[in-house]
Amino acid sequence: MIKHTLLISLICCLFLFVGCSENSTENTDFIDGQLLHPIQCKAINLDCEERLEVGSSIQCRGIASHGNRCGSNTLNACGYCVHHTNQAPPAGQCLNQTKNASGLCDYHKEFAE
Ligand SMILES: [Zn+2]
Ligand SMILES: [Zn+2]
Repeated sequence: MIKHTLLISLICCLFLFVGCSENSTENTDFIDGQLLHPIQCKAINLDCEERLEVGSSIQCRGIASHGNRCGSNTLNACGYCVHHTNQAPPAGQCLNQTKNASGLCDYHKEFAE
């Protein structure tokens, strides 16, 4: 009798285990915030010709000649001051591939609010 219940509970455990592993394979779209398959970054790069609203200036994303991030503020929608628009990515959908679960590439993740 004891053997019998042991066998039943063993089978129950086995079912639980199988059930668990089935669930986890269904939800493995990403692991530790990283997608299994890279997707295209969903960020849109704005044109440097466009202007942000007055008063909502942002720090330039450009890298200054001394290697540090540019300290200038800009109203350019692309996020680069007049000296660094040449560093701005082309306007339109970002072409970078990313595995970040947020859907933003490392570049856009850094500047996401
Ligand atoms: Zn700049
Ligand atoms: Zn991007």
